[in-house]
Amino acid sequence: MDKIREYLIQNRDLFGSELFINSIVNTSKYDNYPVLNLNEFKESICGCKECPLGQSRTEFVFGGGDPNANLLLVGEAPGEQEDLKGEPFIGRAGKLLDKILLAIGLNRNKNVFITNVVKCRPPNNRDPLPSEVEKCEPYLNKQISLINPILIVALGRVAAKTLLKLEMPLKDLRDKIHDYSGIPLRVTYHPAALLRNPMLKKAAWEDFQWIQKYINNKS
Ligand code: SF4
Repeated sequence: MDKIREYLIQNRDLFGSELFINSIVNTSKYDNYPVLNLNEFKESICGCKECPLGQSRTEFVFGGGDPNANLLLVGEAPGEQEDLKGEPFIGRAGKLLDKILLAIGLNRNKNVFITNVVKCRPPNNRDPLPSEVEKCEPYLNKQISLINPILIVALGRVAAKTLLKLEMPLKDLRDKIHDYSGIPLRVTYHPAALLRNPMLKKAAWEDFQWIQKYINNKS
């Protein structure tokens, strides 16, 4: 209570009577969540309706894979198939992702966990809104702290922009190792983009070869 009082007084001094509630929600809500395993965490949030996507979804899509994964893949949001089944990356793009993982000696049940920035499908597959991301990102942060991966890979521009809070073309984000909550993060193309534009496959393959080497060297 003392910390909340102190925060409110500081907020009033800085901004007057307008209160920025979201900054409270995003920084602390799930940082203080009791330590759970991934399954318990999923059970505790699967009925979430904190943003409007909770009303329009069919199924909540927590993500799936190895709870002790070295590699965490993060897309932007569930699509139509994922929304119907409650599983991540199970449409055509997901099948391509499975092939890529297999080619670097990984699969989604061993040493890989796959999730999205938001856990519910945006209508008509639109990009998630900043307000929806803000509500949902604490769940991703909690997943990251429970999985504690060696490497996070953002799949596509929206996931990269959301995680890194950077407005840059994807090609400019690809060649660097970024940092997300103290964990190295790389950016590559979303598999759906590779289906739309096969010319991108060569660059994506180079990224996944780098990912393979990085994981092998660090594990
Ligand atoms: S998108 Fe995230 S914050 Fe919004 S209802 Fe779904 S789980 Fe909750």
